[in-house]
Amino acid sequence: MRTMLEVNDLSVSFDVYGGEVQAVRGVSFSVKEGEAVAIVGESGSGKSVTAQTIMRLISTPPGRIKQGSVRFDGQELLSLPEKEMQRVRGNQIGMIFQDPMTSLNPTMTIGMQIMEGLMKHQKMSRSDAKKRAIELLTMVGIPNPESRISQYPHHFSGGMRQRAMIAIALSCNPALLIADEPTTALDVTIQAQILRLMKNLQKQTGTSIILITHDLGIVADMCDRVIVMYAGQIIETGTKREIFRNPQHPYTKGLLKSLPRLDQSKNEPLVPIHGTPPDLIQPPQGCGFCSRCDYAMRICQTEVPEFTRLSDTQQVRCWLQQSQGGIRGGKGASA
Ligand code: SF4
Ligand code: MG
Repeated sequence: MRTMLEVNDLSVSFDVYGGEVQAVRGVSFSVKEGEAVAIVGESGSGKSVTAQTIMRLISTPPGRIKQGSVRFDGQELLSLPEKEMQRVRGNQIGMIFQDPMTSLNPTMTIGMQIMEGLMKHQKMSRSDAKKRAIELLTMVGIPNPESRISQYPHHFSGGMRQRAMIAIALSCNPALLIADEPTTALDVTIQAQILRLMKNLQKQTGTSIILITHDLGIVADMCDRVIVMYAGQIIETGTKREIFRNPQHPYTKGLLKSLPRLDQSKNEPLVPIHGTPPDLIQPPQGCGFCSRCDYAMRICQTEVPEFTRLSDTQQVRCWLQQSQGGIRGGKGASA
């Protein structure tokens, strides 16, 4: 399968009072055509910054892309002139954010917000764009789309606004859809509906998806592959099956233990991961998870573990694996 997106050795920092926050540190991964990949981690792990860097939505300054490359369909995005990048953003990569209210334009009808991209990027006539907007609203499950397109965002409920966002993101048939916590603001039933909708649309259109979430629970239904980030780095990656059945990094195991399960008995408590993530102004010298890890050894404090390859698809960055003699993947091993 064709590789849609290839992120290589990406590092992004933010200049703040008192130093430089190293938000993303040497991140490499790729996404194939039609693949759904989840990036999972706590807030501050660098997952949103990674997504925003791919879309070139980081404001510089204070942000700084220090190194690395982002190739989309063979084209380097980090050096693309802003004008061409706008075309990529509207046309080839769609993005769905957590809070649709902040990304929808409150002064423009929902219909016009969908039609705008179609007329601008796909050079559709107004009447064709309107027809397509109605089709898209139908596709994302908005009832009475003919009358809904002339309404404004505040006429829509939270779930309906998120559907409208998905319609806008899908309007130009993007090859890649990036969804950053797309359902966090919604209640559980609507969350499930939106995720099912995204999954179905992905099947229909063959779009690749990057789903960013702090909630491993929603990954199970949606994604083929999981990338776990911690303190600005990828610490484990594998197929959904590998990550759920055979997690190897203590942090991934912790994330799974903190998830409610259907088969869990009432007296079996959920176990939150103790401690807090490290300060990324002064990232730890060794493993980023060291201060919270029950298995930390002396080497963990001073040396960053490299990737150990456990299978063709699973890699983990932990000294426990290296001492057990996996195949070393090297620092730049990519997910
Ligand atoms: Fe724990 Fe050491 Fe593995 Fe880090 S490298 S997760 S501190 S055992
Ligand atoms: Mg975020």
